Amino acid sequence: MTAKIIDGKEFSIKIRKQVKEDVAKIKELTGKIPGLAVILVGEDPASEIYVRNKGKQTTEAGMASFEFKMPDSITQQELIEKIHELNADQHVHGILVQLPLPEGVNENAVINAISPEKDVDGFHIHNSGLLATGQKAMVPCTPLGCIIMLKDNYKDLSGLNAVVVGRSNIVGKPMASLLLNENCTVTIVHSRTKNIEDICRNADIIVAAAGKPQMIKGNWIKKGATIIDVGINRIEIDGKNKLVGDVDFNEAKEVANAITPVPGGVGPMTIACLLKNTVTCFCNINNVEL
Ligand code: NDP
Repeated sequence: MTAKIIDGKEFSIKIRKQVKEDVAKIKELTGKIPGLAVILVGEDPASEIYVRNKGKQTTEAGMASFEFKMPDSITQQELIEKIHELNADQHVHGILVQLPLPEGVNENAVINAISPEKDVDGFHIHNSGLLATGQKAMVPCTPLGCIIMLKDNYKDLSGLNAVVVGRSNIVGKPMASLLLNENCTVTIVHSRTKNIEDICRNADIIVAAAGKPQMIKGNWIKKGATIIDVGINRIEIDGKNKLVGDVDFNEAKEVANAITPVPGGVGPMTIACLLKNTVTCFCNINNVEL
């Protein structure tokens, strides 16, 4: 068996096209355009690349992009004051604080200072609470991208056994809530879980978000399962730097029914979903129905 490759890049192009059309419609209806503000603290090169990419794709979709680069020395209070300013800014509909933040700055305090209706990343406790209780919420971009691809693959996820590897607030936990809301039977495994292999072998769906290169082997996977690989890991193979996921792709593709590659799977979907969420924030704030 060779698995179907779930092409996240192709999916993301469709989503970005839809976002562009929605933005044009919004402009026609309201005379306004959605605006996304991104705050970057410090000089982490990987974060700078992400932020640059986000800004580029935001303007390509016809939206306004606002970037704020803050020094490493910024205090938590100064950062929160900036967020309050953006909360009050009528041109800004989504606010994203690029993580991680420097030591000494409490990430939760910063995220929870964002107005829940501008919480484009869905990390605010208000939105995570809504999602966990099965209510309409701003959904974190990476799990949103994963569930879009899964729903396309299965149409109905009801009753399937899903295993989420990882329990972070930005991927694992919201992913588990989304799967539960689709009536899957969900198991979350993490670094303290015993017999992860056996739990995975029972899964119809595995969403891998552990940040451990090629951890999930072919013999952990049930024949015909669907594998969503969130992991992004840089490793050296034969003296060359390579990007790999948390799943051993070559082994997994021989067993699974469908699999997302790394790169080209979940990654492109995350930014596309960020743009989609910015439109959602605009529509919620302005009572616009598309
Ligand atoms: P975190 O480091 O915050 O969380 C990792 C989770 O995996 C933790 O819950 C941890 O368990 C668990 N874990 C670690 N090692 C193991 C193990 N050996 N077995 C089982 N579970 C394990 O990472 P994130 O959730 O932020 O990200 C996960 C991965 O996804 C990373 O590679 C990241 O780069 C990638 N990522 C990709 C995105 C994309 O757009 N494609 C977006 C966001 C993340 P414990 O809680 O016990 O420590």
